[in-house]
Amino acid sequence: MFADLHLHTHFSDGTYSPEKVVESGREHGLSILALTDHDTLEGCARAAAACAAAGLEFITGAELTAEQGGHEVHLLAYFVATDHPRLSREMAKFQAVRQDRIREMVFRLNRINIPLEAAAVFALANCNAPGRPHVARALVSAGHCRTLDEAFERYLKKHRPAWVPKYRMSAAHAIELVHEAGGLAVMAHPGLNRSDEVIAPMAEAGLDGLECFHSRHSTMQMEQYLALAEGLNLLVTGGSDCHGESKGRPLIGSIKPPSDYVARMKQRLAARARPGPAAHATAA
Ligand code: AMP
Ligand code: FE
Ligand code: FE
Ligand code: ZN
Repeated sequence: MFADLHLHTHFSDGTYSPEKVVESGREHGLSILALTDHDTLEGCARAAAACAAAGLEFITGAELTAEQGGHEVHLLAYFVATDHPRLSREMAKFQAVRQDRIREMVFRLNRINIPLEAAAVFALANCNAPGRPHVARALVSAGHCRTLDEAFERYLKKHRPAWVPKYRMSAAHAIELVHEAGGLAVMAHPGLNRSDEVIAPMAEAGLDGLECFHSRHSTMQMEQYLALAEGLNLLVTGGSDCHGESKGRPLIGSIKPPSDYVARMKQRLAARARPGPAAHATAA
């Protein structure tokens, strides 16, 4: 039994529908799937229904943008309640900020004589949590760039002319919010951050796990993060970070952590729900 706990849909910057993600997951022999769209849980109900119909297990999730020690970190929120009022409010705020950021990116592109319209980006994105990949797609479809990579390299990467920083909550705040919504907080793709010093303070703040298995981690990074997770008593998770067709070939099926890791996540949640000292006695 294998899982993929990092999957995006068109509710953020993926290209697949929730149903298509589930269908692909089943084709790749996966038994447990989690959606982790950026700043939204909107795809979860449909993915849960598709998983139920296909006989797969579904885990609710989202990928939140947070900040630790001046670095942007992505926090995966698993098992959260989709109707939690405070989490819903915070995500609505993130979505509004993402939409304002699109307008600002377009403004900056216009300033360097690239005549893109925000409306075109929103129409193409057709979701509440638009991001840079949508601007990149709009630049490609209007003929201003040949590829998405070129759009990022020339305009959208950090310190390029249309780059706009993203609003982020502190990691401690995000972790606390995820816990309040009944979930587990896991640091996504630590290997892409190149700032391992942020991990221990987040563990101190209640971080539950580390995404050791990720499609862009080398074997060496994977081993290094497995050791780090063990040392800090963090859960181990993994996923492909598949965005459908938006970044070349679909990555689903490339990372398949065994379901034991999911069992350990559930154990930690159950231990937290139990009052008393047992709540502190979970092994990673
Ligand atoms: P945002 O959340 O708006 O800052 O956009 C971040 C998203 O852009 C993440 O899903 C990244 O993986 C994606 N991204 C970053 N660089 C590239 C690239 N060169 N080509 C395509 N997508 C990228
Ligand atoms: Fe993304
Ligand atoms: Fe991420
Ligand atoms: Zn992701």
